[in-house]
Amino acid sequence: MKYLLVIVVVGALLWSMFGRERRTTPPPPRRAAPPRLPVQMVECAHCGVHLPQTEALFDVGGRPYCSDAHRVAGPRRG
Ligand SMILES: [Zn+2]
Repeated sequence: MKYLLVIVVVGALLWSMFGRERRTTPPPPRRAAPPRLPVQMVECAHCGVHLPQTEALFDVGGRPYCSDAHRVAGPRRG
């Protein structure tokens, strides 16, 4: 019975030494977060401010505007 205990203790020691050694390998580097989808920026035809296309308002001619007020005011540039 005494020897069994010694074997178990030695086995546990060996396991902790070699088992841990195997686990010290660095984990694979995490991949960088996927880049966000590029947002198309447009320029307000009235005041020239840049804003995402998804937030822009367009007139019948397809010109982008930053707000409904500027869309009503119409293009001022060009
Ligand atoms: Zn504007």
